[in-house]
Amino acid sequence: MTGTGSAADGIDTSRPHPARVYDWYLGGKDNYPVDERLGQQITARDPGARRAARSNRWFMQRATRHLVRTAGIRQFLDIGTGIPTEPNLHQIAQSTAPDARVVYVDNDPIVLAHAEALLRGTDEGRTEYVHADVREPRKILDEAARVLDLGRPVALSLIALMHFVADDDGAYELVGTLVDALAPGSFLSLSTMTADFEPEEVRRGIEAYARGGVTLVGRSHAGVSRFFEGLDLVEPGVVSVKDWRPELAEGESPIGDEPVSLYGGVGLKS
Ligand code: SAH
Repeated sequence: MTGTGSAADGIDTSRPHPARVYDWYLGGKDNYPVDERLGQQITARDPGARRAARSNRWFMQRATRHLVRTAGIRQFLDIGTGIPTEPNLHQIAQSTAPDARVVYVDNDPIVLAHAEALLRGTDEGRTEYVHADVREPRKILDEAARVLDLGRPVALSLIALMHFVADDDGAYELVGTLVDALAPGSFLSLSTMTADFEPEEVRRGIEAYARGGVTLVGRSHAGVSRFFEGLDLVEPGVVSVKDWRPELAEGESPIGDEPVSLYGGVGLKS
């Protein structure tokens, strides 16, 4: 996509969007010059940002493999889906379990514009897209219940999403509302940014996003662990995304030993 401002599809190309900046990091094509500019500015200040995006994406893939293969999960609710850079969650899940059902949720019009690609799943399974904000958890649950059986286990995934929601904006409460609505045997799979490993670089990244009008929050290990309150953390707990179950990696390229500034974890609701 090379457009510079046509609003014909309702997409604002005058301001950077997180989903498109992220797509640029992953080497995707669904971003605009304004997104590339912000991506390049952030990379100049914080070279680890691009590595972190890729490493986060691989965490999502490993966590999904664990959930579908080991935990036997067949229903997924993925909020903050992003642009469907392949392989996406439904492709990982349905490659093991063709009957897996996946509901994707995002609030960015660019993701809505790509919903068709998100919905291309197996014949036996089902994928749906809901255009909603994570700060409307009730609406999301109502919509999800049309596709998922909330009386049975669901894996709720909030991958690289919660750093866009400040504590004051109800971050913990909304995750609590979502998890409370899930049946025993459900999981929360979450990754979010931290300033614990590279405080200076991450601070500069946060400033760059702020200049683009985007709020970004870096949480401590305790702050991230709080999202899993009341859940049993799957081994190895809340760790840098690159250290979460590396044995489940498929098709990852080496990223070196430097830290990755996102914590990730998977918790079971018993
Ligand atoms: N989960 C994907 C994409 C992460 S990028 C992955 O990890 O690969 C973060 C996504 O969250 C973007 O697509 C952005 O549009 C979305 N997002 C940000 N704030 C949101 C909100 N309040 N409600 C719903 N989605 C949101």
